[in-house]
Amino acid sequence: MKTIGLIGGMSWESTVPYYRLINEYVKDALGGLHSAKIALYSVEFDEIEKCQSEDRWDDAAKILADAAAGLEKCGADFILICTNTMHKVFDQVQAAVNVPLLHIADATGEALKEAGIQKVGLLGTRYTMQQDFYKGRLAQAGFEVCVPAEGFLAELNRIIFEELCVGVIKEASRRFFAQAIEDLKDQGCEGVILGCTEIGLLVRPEDSSLPLFDTTVIHAQAAAKRALE
Ligand code: GLU
Repeated sequence: MKTIGLIGGMSWESTVPYYRLINEYVKDALGGLHSAKIALYSVEFDEIEKCQSEDRWDDAAKILADAAAGLEKCGADFILICTNTMHKVFDQVQAAVNVPLLHIADATGEALKEAGIQKVGLLGTRYTMQQDFYKGRLAQAGFEVCVPAEGFLAELNRIIFEELCVGVIKEASRRFFAQAIEDLKDQGCEGVILGCTEIGLLVRPEDSSLPLFDTTVIHAQAAAKRALE
């Protein structure tokens, strides 16, 4: 079994499900007392968030690159960045290590392909929804990616950082996400990417009239599968 390196803590609320999902996959596959080999480097999210909002992405990249190098030293055979947003610095982190990083958008693209979906909605932080690093990678893989109308974006981002990343779950926010999903449906989307690793803590399949692609679940399962190959 390969050792999975996780760069987590962005936020830790969403790293907990990664740990659980990977172990559940391995347990289901191998049975008995089997569990995953995992090395976790959990960062201080306040430092990362300040880098994001102050547009100091190179500083954030340095923190994650150091974390990746630490995981490589711990014996990680491959590494995951456990957040969609920080894939903005994917290339810089990959350049710091000799082991491969498993890109969250690539894993998500595989899941969309399997489900036969081409036009897809994307929910995430403002960085993920508005910049090109994530949408562009999916577009290159052949997907048409839509985001909710402008009026939704700031509030979706606020809910992620002010509620979900600190473990607050509110019914009103769940309804707001459901409205954003309806907007994506009106745009002709066939499915919706929960493109932020905390959204699955709030939005359940029954809150959505479209199939949901939870990047936390997809990324964690892709890692577990790869560890067992
Ligand atoms: N976990 C979130 C994501 O998947 C947001 C936190 C962050 O900014 O890294 O994008």
